[in-house]
Amino acid sequence: MEKISVLLIDDDEDEFIITRDLLAELGEGYRLSWSNNFERGLSEVLRGGYSVCLLDFHLGAQNGLEFLAEASLRNCTIPIILLTGQGDYEVDLAAMKAGASDYLDKRLLSAPVIERSIRYAVERKKTEEKIRFLAYYDQLTHLPNRTLFYDRLKTAFASAKRHGRLCAVMFLDIDNFKRINDTLGHTLGDRLIQEVARRLLKCIRKEDTVAHDDFNAMLDTVARLGGDEFTILLNEINEAGNASVVAERIRHMLYSPLVLEQHEINVTVSIGIAVYPTDGADIETVVKNADIAMYKSKSMGKNNFQYFNASMNSTALRRLAVENDLRKALKNEELELYYQPIMDLEAGRSIGAEALLRWRHPEKGLISPLEFIPIAEEIGLIYELGTRVFEILKRDYEYWGEEGIGKPNVAVNISPRQLNQRNILAQIVKLIGDLDIAPGQLTLEITESGIINNVDEAKRVIEAVQESGVKVSLDDFGSGYSSFVILRQIKFDILKIDGSLISRITLDDGDATIVKSLVTIGRSMGLDVVAEGIETKEQLEFLQSQKCRLGQGFYFNEPLPRKELTRFLKRESPPPPGER
Ligand code: C2E
Ligand code: MG
Ligand code: MG
Repeated sequence: MEKISVLLIDDDEDEFIITRDLLAELGEGYRLSWSNNFERGLSEVLRGGYSVCLLDFHLGAQNGLEFLAEASLRNCTIPIILLTGQGDYEVDLAAMKAGASDYLDKRLLSAPVIERSIRYAVERKKTEEKIRFLAYYDQLTHLPNRTLFYDRLKTAFASAKRHGRLCAVMFLDIDNFKRINDTLGHTLGDRLIQEVARRLLKCIRKEDTVAHDDFNAMLDTVARLGGDEFTILLNEINEAGNASVVAERIRHMLYSPLVLEQHEINVTVSIGIAVYPTDGADIETVVKNADIAMYKSKSMGKNNFQYFNASMNSTALRRLAVENDLRKALKNEELELYYQPIMDLEAGRSIGAEALLRWRHPEKGLISPLEFIPIAEEIGLIYELGTRVFEILKRDYEYWGEEGIGKPNVAVNISPRQLNQRNILAQIVKLIGDLDIAPGQLTLEITESGIINNVDEAKRVIEAVQESGVKVSLDDFGSGYSSFVILRQIKFDILKIDGSLISRITLDDGDATIVKSLVTIGRSMGLDVVAEGIETKEQLEFLQSQKCRLGQGFYFNEPLPRKELTRFLKRESPPPPGER
């Protein structure tokens, strides 16, 4: 067992001998050191390494209370037991207040008394440390937590201010962590966080996990704020540019893949940097701005770092606000579906409708999915959102059932991310059951931009979906890099030509030619072609002349709430048999 090391501070050598003999009575468990004056005693205590200190009340011209005050001022963490002599009795209360663990009357000192006092002091110290650890350190990584990090910032900013220097705060977020976590499971997700923490520590000036004295406060600090978010404090740097050296070091450090069980994972982080006092005069502002810069870095394609600059404010703040609100929206059921009829351009009547998500924000009104779907995708909320869309559909079909308009065909937009969801097929099968429709009445619309990164996986899921009888359409074709590779590799049922092309067919010959070819290509591949965003009669006539069979757009209808869709469908005469 490890010995309990005791420091005696007493100017009388006789007392040292007595104490030594008392401890010897208790066996081999103690090691005694001795300082014979105030100054030396103080520097020993602050140096650390002792389990407990026995302090004589009388130390030359000074006394034990002054010693205690001095020690606590310098953040001494060793428990101190005050030894009082004759007539010092009234000091006991003052001693406790000054931070002594215990006080003992020298005249009553015996081996058992001293043993008991030491044991209590040491045990209490351990408990205190445990509590301190729970309060100030992250249990998973043993890094400082948010509370301690903010403490450190306070000290660091104050000192930087005094010395006219700078501090940098870095905000780090693991790229795609949500997806990694979903795929690997939480146990491996936790291990990944631990490994990242370990590597981050190597990138700063000194390791600082469980700190035992506040000397460490002047070093750089890596902290975990929770989830996959880390922060780093770079203390008293000379120029803002120093932070980029650390950021580069971090990217380099994470460069070699992590191996967890048989998985090899490439981890990258997005980093935002804000500098005190340039980017903010107080802790809250600097941290918030580092966070904003981090978001900017994510939006710039991840795996990089960004310094904060004032122009980032508005977009990032808006984004953060949307993120918070969106979670509330799910909870408070603020989401609805609108339906835009899809028209047979020749017959002039609808063959179904596309369901389009709307967010009825309590203050901001109706918000377009273009504003919140990308954020939901980024923060992993898209799965819940997708599930909610299915739930709303179910409710709306029940409503239409009551209205007696039957069961319209419906096209639902799903995010390519949802294709990676393990239970997506089961969800779709359940949806068909819930709506009580034939599988062929349901179409899933997927945009190509998400598929392009993972064609093989998308192909597998899409084919499985089609196997169940559900149709799949390629949405927004012609909007981005329109990859014919996708069209060649994956057999879709429907091709939707993006509204941006349609809007220019009557203005630009080039675009007209492109639309013309897309219609031809689609048809020759056996796909149904839908023109999106038809707004004018001229556009409609052009598309009709090209034998584009289907279309939708404001020319016919804007997306309608379910009640108005009911009205629309009731107005339409029932189609002659065989046409649908
Ligand atoms: P999208 O699937 O291409 O939907 C067509 C968009 O064009 C809709 O925008 C629609 O309101 C709009 N639109 C329809 N007719 C016209 C027109 O004549 N002119 C113009 N300028 N626009 C027209 P919306 O509703 O804002 O949806 C935007 C996108 O958000 C959708 O594009 C779709 O990709 C996505 N989205 C919508 N609902 C969902 C959903 O439930 N889940 C997912 N993952 N994405 C959704
Ligand atoms: Mg769509
Ligand atoms: Mg579209």
